[in-house]
Amino acid sequence: MAHKLLLATRNKGKIEEFRRILDAVAPGEIDLVGLDQFPDLHDVVEDGTTFEANALKKAREMSIATGIPAIADDSGLCVDALNGDPGIFSARWAGNHGDDAANTAKVLEQLADIPDEKRSAHFTCVAALYLPDGRSHCEEAHFDGWILRAPIGEQGFGYDPIFRPDGLQLSSAQMSAEEKDAISHRGKSLRAIAPHVITLLKSLG
Ligand code: IMP
Repeated sequence: MAHKLLLATRNKGKIEEFRRILDAVAPGEIDLVGLDQFPDLHDVVEDGTTFEANALKKAREMSIATGIPAIADDSGLCVDALNGDPGIFSARWAGNHGDDAANTAKVLEQLADIPDEKRSAHFTCVAALYLPDGRSHCEEAHFDGWILRAPIGEQGFGYDPIFRPDGLQLSSAQMSAEEKDAISHRGKSLRAIAPHVITLLKSLG
């Protein structure tokens, strides 16, 4: 029988992405359910000081609230010329949570005087699993690249239109979901945690 696993997000795109990746690693072994099936659960306050702390907090609180093993992720853009900012503040860098256009414009403005060779950056993602018995496992992955001078591309979300993956001549908003999954921070951290998820869920019997 498939093991039930709660994904601590209400984002439908993320639920599909997690399902795609976990299914590829362990076909039919995991029954992934989203928070949309638990409309009364509280929102987790992301007040950790690291990606790992926030990812683990989301997984822990949702697992404890439901009694089901839970997986969560936390991610963001780290720009070297900005000493790693926006980092854990990526989603609300310009003030309003999830205002992608304003966040992107703010980063471009902050980098206005920074020459091309100093515009290096990376996305970080930490995937975290928490079991109701208190065991947990985290995996961190990076997606290296460069900040462009203007947005380009219609795919993806967030900072994708101003991020050029290292070694490529397009923005991550010009890649298909599958192309991006193959090299992205989220794809890599999910593929890294998937075998641990299977092992730990199986150990529950
Ligand atoms: P969260 O992990 O869902 O909290 O996302 C944090 C924020 O980081 C998002 O709102 C985006 O601004 C940014 N971000 C994370 N991953 C990506 C990505 O793959 N592309 C573009 N922006 C991203």
